[in-house]
Amino acid sequence: MTRIFNFSAGPSTLPEAVLEQAKDEMLDWRGSGMSVMEMSHRGKQFMSIAAELETDLRALMNIPENYRVLFLQGGASAQFSFIPQNLLGDKIKACYVKTGTWSKKAIKDAKPYCEAIISASSKHGHFTTIPNISSWEIDSEAAYLHYTSNETIHGVEFNTTPDAKGLPLVCDMSSNILSRPIDVSEFGLIYAGSQKNMGAAGVTVVIVRDDLLGKCSKLVPPVFNYSEQAKNQSMLNTPTTYSWYLMGLVLKWVQAQGGVTAMEQRNIAKSAKLYQAIDASTLYRNSVEIVSRSRMNVPFILTNEALETEFLTAAEAAGLNELKGHRLTGGMRASIYNAMPEKGVDALISFMREFERTH
Ligand SMILES: *Cc1c(COP(=O)(O)O)cnc(C)c1O
Repeated sequence: MTRIFNFSAGPSTLPEAVLEQAKDEMLDWRGSGMSVMEMSHRGKQFMSIAAELETDLRALMNIPENYRVLFLQGGASAQFSFIPQNLLGDKIKACYVKTGTWSKKAIKDAKPYCEAIISASSKHGHFTTIPNISSWEIDSEAAYLHYTSNETIHGVEFNTTPDAKGLPLVCDMSSNILSRPIDVSEFGLIYAGSQKNMGAAGVTVVIVRDDLLGKCSKLVPPVFNYSEQAKNQSMLNTPTTYSWYLMGLVLKWVQAQGGVTAMEQRNIAKSAKLYQAIDASTLYRNSVEIVSRSRMNVPFILTNEALETEFLTAAEAAGLNELKGHRLTGGMRASIYNAMPEKGVDALISFMREFERTH
């Protein structure tokens, strides 16, 4: 067996130790005589997996008592519609910050439910910056302020938590959750899909402050009503049990690495050396302003576009896969989430140098 270095933006690479453990426990989970996939979600074995999942996420992110943790379905994309429907209450406006493709989608999907005010946008700079936080126009009558902490496609990341001027701060953390410490108490709601930094596809984590519950529109299906799911431990219906289990294994792995502080140190080291290699070359270029460069997703172009196909083919032959950029932006993208080992980044850098030397 040879495993590649998988630079996919999501679903993405998982820690090998997690896959090994899942393999070992596949047919007989800890003496139960069955696979996690075959367990009743109401049975005591799965209930223990679910309880530990929440406990571990609370510990890793230091989630305060007055926040509920939900494990939902539908992906982060479903939340684009269900956040306004859950949080607006009797308000009619919500503020949004537009920094790339994902925040644009969040805005588009919120529009049927509210007046989506664009507090700031980096569109004019082709989404290569984070608009200066002091210039954001925040409407005090809005129900919340929404932003995307890491734009997975444009490779732009916030390096601080913005001040929402008293509004509940809502954040799509799908592609950088658990990659650095954050203070959950600064947020009203955090949401993230599982398939980038937390496991296999299939679970959407929603961390929501108690006082924001109970305002959901009656038109929302109960499985997407945060209050209903909070009352039912996210088990109003059958959850994606195996994805919950895998997320649990990933959280244990993060813990064993030293938690989010250790992850951050590694992510700084991995991304810094890749950006350094790009900046030092004449063939590769990343156009994101330096302070807003993502530690998770590193897009780059080849200044000689004609070499793109050859670059990708040669990279694959070297065991470096999924480097093709998003269809919207073109070029290349290396996604280097928590689970990408430093030696994967080293291998990519060596390959890029050698490719440049020979071309
Ligand atoms: C991947 C991603 C999404 C969409 O996730 P789905 O699970 O496909 O709905 C939303 N926001 C961000 C920032 C993402 O990276």
